[in-house]
Amino acid sequence: MNRTALFPGSFDPFTLGHKIVVDQGLELFERIVIAVGVNTEKRGLLTPENRARLIRDLYRNDSRIEVVIYNELTGKVCRQLGIDTILRGLRNTVDFEYERNIMQVNQTLFPEIKTVLLFTPARYVAISSSVIRELVTFGGDPTPLMPENIDIKNYL
Ligand code: ADP
Repeated sequence: MNRTALFPGSFDPFTLGHKIVVDQGLELFERIVIAVGVNTEKRGLLTPENRARLIRDLYRNDSRIEVVIYNELTGKVCRQLGIDTILRGLRNTVDFEYERNIMQVNQTLFPEIKTVLLFTPARYVAISSSVIRELVTFGGDPTPLMPENIDIKNYL
């Protein structure tokens, strides 16, 4: 049985939607390693270090969660950590097509790695890091879209 899953993403920043994926994932896996990717294509709001710090603060009292920063292929990180399951969240068909493409490439390069996709509950479908970045940039309050007790100002 796979006891640990890797949950990779940009997490710029980590949202309530991401937290739901982790919450659901913890019902399937004993441990989740949240891997903050240094994405070259996406414009950053938070530095990778601050993205990781936010997530570590959130799960400070939960020993089932570990946070790492990475700058290479997700499959390689899995192999380095001895993890063979990637966990990702699914909001809509756009996510689905994107996830399927990544999964197929991973299947070719890292055949032992499996991908588990978790559908998000309807009320979290509209939550995304990009909406939060937009709100922060133009002076809106992103708090309702963030995990409880997280103030984005501490990580900007
Ligand atoms: P990436 O740049 O790798 O897509 P993100 O940080 O945007 O990284 O997302 C990481 C994962 O979380 C992806 O699988 C994405 O589909 C999922 N995700 C993002 N927002 C939500 C949400 N509101 N509900 C469920 N899954 C989500």
